[in-house]
Formats: sequence, structure tokens, C-alpha cells
Amino acid sequence: MTYYYLPRYYNLCTTVYQPLMKYFVKTFGCQQNHADSERIAQAFSARGYTEATGYEDTNYVIINTCMVRESAENRVYGLVNNLKEIKNRKTKNGELYKIIVTGCMVGIAFRDKTGKFLSKIRKAMPAADEFMPIEEVGFDNEPVRQNLNEAWVPISNGCNNFCTFCIVPFTRGREISRPYEDIIEECLHLRAKGYKKITLLGQNVNSYGADLILGKENVQVMRDIEKTYFEKHDQDYNDTLDQINTTLSTIRTKFTYNGRNVEPVYVKHLGKMRIPTLFPYLLEDIARMDFETVDFISSNPWDFSDELIEMIARYPNITRTIHLPVQSGDNNVLKRMNRWYTAEDYIEIINKLKKKVPDIKFTTDIIVGFCGETDEEFQNTVKLAKIVGFEKAYLAMYSERPMTAATKVMTDDVPHETKKKRWQILEKFINNY
Ligand code: SF4
Repeated sequence: MTYYYLPRYYNLCTTVYQPLMKYFVKTFGCQQNHADSERIAQAFSARGYTEATGYEDTNYVIINTCMVRESAENRVYGLVNNLKEIKNRKTKNGELYKIIVTGCMVGIAFRDKTGKFLSKIRKAMPAADEFMPIEEVGFDNEPVRQNLNEAWVPISNGCNNFCTFCIVPFTRGREISRPYEDIIEECLHLRAKGYKKITLLGQNVNSYGADLILGKENVQVMRDIEKTYFEKHDQDYNDTLDQINTTLSTIRTKFTYNGRNVEPVYVKHLGKMRIPTLFPYLLEDIARMDFETVDFISSNPWDFSDELIEMIARYPNITRTIHLPVQSGDNNVLKRMNRWYTAEDYIEIINKLKKKVPDIKFTTDIIVGFCGETDEEFQNTVKLAKIVGFEKAYLAMYSERPMTAATKVMTDDVPHETKKKRWQILEKFINNY
């Protein structure tokens, strides 16, 4: 892996590589972004740069961006524009001060073949010196970890699910699993160093390995409501459900790891075969390493297999707080969101987990005010929340995100006041505020 984007500064008086420069990483968004930032920090420290304490005493500011909500995007624009004053002052004094933007915003800019998004962010952040795709930072070196007891371990990146509200498949691209052996090696290393808690990270951890097994056949589709749109939009995703089922019946069904033959777990929802996953095996191999806790974020209800439930029940060191995003408790809204499960499917998984793992708790993500959400549909979410008894919910009011199907073919028609009221109802009921 070459980090050609990182300038190299040598102390010319000696041949020794000197820590002359400082870097400061600001991270917006999810744990995956924080884990990426640990690897960015590594890339800089490997060149002898030291970590700065803030925006003033640094030479490089690296901003790892998030686009999941409009508000997160606006905070990035605000920050870069605020840094302009420091940059101008330092540059006048002859000091080096560079602003490098990376993460989701740059991901979408480099995937947008029209170039419009890159032009937009360049215009919105004229003080930025560089837009760096996060893919430039690999997994070759050990991250600079912020916590000496708990470690994040990315197991996959990207997402193939195309929930109609979500920008992630456009910012991070298609799902790519890290090699099984690399993850095991990293976890063994962390165990040897005394780490107590591991959190496996991915946009959809429980579909881990589908691409390792299916290769380019790793296709998933939109449900009927949006399929026509996506057939036009992206030729990669125009396979029909029948074609996918044929593909699944012809692929090899064995996967070998460390001399052990495993049969991938097939996940099936809404009467359709979906994809094979290796996640239950990976989770078991890591749980056996005797960490105090093995956690994973995020999983999707439609890939939550019985085998995964069995594995959680078998190993007490696997987390007892499962984060399982539901997004809505109404089947029509779920369908409009292109989420491949019903409220009944979701409750069935919860009940199975409650039965097998008595001390289990649940957290979730919910979006209120999604396109066309009626009062009755919202009340179905309240009902589901009552049945499940969530410990915590990360609530969001729906906002349009560029390139998503919801933005292109639906209408953001729920008034802000209504979204706010619905948000407050759930916040009070679930989060006790
Ligand atoms: S599963 Fe849906 S919500 Fe989650 S990252 Fe993928 S597209 Fe987004």
C-alpha cells in the first residue's frame, strides 16, 4: 500500500526520520468512521508525525466526514469554513497548514461519474487542500487505537442493500468482506496484547462473507416497488429474484477455513432465498479466543439467521445487547424503505433471541417521517417498540440524501412539525426523555 498522498518531510541535518510535523484527525459519524480514523492516524504516525491536540497546533487537519444525515454534512462544511481563518493566519506566518477531507463525502464524490458532487464539495469547501478517498488507507498496518481495552475490528466495508433512504451504498460502495484469515489474525494479536473487548464492524456484519463465496454473483435486488427504478439506474442490480435463486443453487456450498469445511448459512426472508453468510462461524472463532466481550455492529433483521442466534446463545462472552435497526414498525413503510422484513419477522427474531438468551437486551435505529408515513403507520412503530421493549433507540427525522431512491422517486412529504412530534413521542417512550 502506498500512501502517495502523504507528503514526506525529512530533517536534512541528519539521515534520521524526524517527527517534524503534526496531524489532527476530526471524525464525524459512526464507529466505522472512527475505526477508519485510527488507520488514518497510523498512516501519519508511521511517517514520524505526532498527534496534535487540536486545530491550532497542527500542520495537517484530516476531516473524516459523514453524510448519513444532512445535518452531519452541514457540520463538515461549517468546520472547514471555520478553519479558513487559522489556515490563512498560519500560511501568512510561513507555517504549513493543510486541510484534507476524506470519508463518506469523498466516497460519494469519487463514485459519482458525473463529477457533480465533487464540484459541489470543492465549491462548498474552498479551504480544503485535498479530497482523499478512504480506500487509500489499507489494513496493512496496526491502527493507532484510542482505547487500550476495547478495539474495533472492521470485517467488511460497503453495502449492497440499497435501503431507499440510505446513502451508504453510494458513499462506501458495494460490500467487500475482509479475508477471514486477516480478521482472525488481527483478533489473535489483540488478544495477545490484552484487549478485553472486540467490536466487529460493518454496515451489515451478518452478511459477512457473501462476496467471498459468491464473487461477482453477489447480487441483491430491490423489492418490487423499486426494482424498475434500479433496473434503469444500475445494470449490476437488474437480476430478478428468480435469477438469484438459480445462482444460489449452482454456487459451491463449501467454504474452507484453516482446514475446516464450513457450509455457509443461507438466509431466507419473505419466502425468498437471499445470500450465504459466514458470520456465525467468524463470530464463533472470535468468541473462542476468550475476550470478555465480543460485540458486533450493525446487523440487519433479514440476515439474522437461526444459526447466528444459536451462536449468541452458546457463547456467554458474545454481547447481550444486540443492536438491531428496525427503522419502522409498519410493513408498508418497510417496503417503501426496501427493507426485506416485516414487523412480524422482526418480532419473531426478537422472541427467538429472548427465548434462547434470557438476559438479552435490544437497541435499535428508527427513522420517523419517512416519505408518506401516515399517523397510523407511525403508530405501528410505537406498537412494535412497546412489544420489543428497547433499551435505547437512535432516532432520526427523515431527510433527503443525494442519489438515494427515496430522493429520486418519492416525496419528502411529512411536515417537519409532524416529524418532530413523532420523534418526541418515541424519544419519551423509549429513551425516557
Ligand atoms: S443496510 Fe440499508 S441502512 Fe444499512 S447501510 Fe445498507 S443501505 Fe444503509
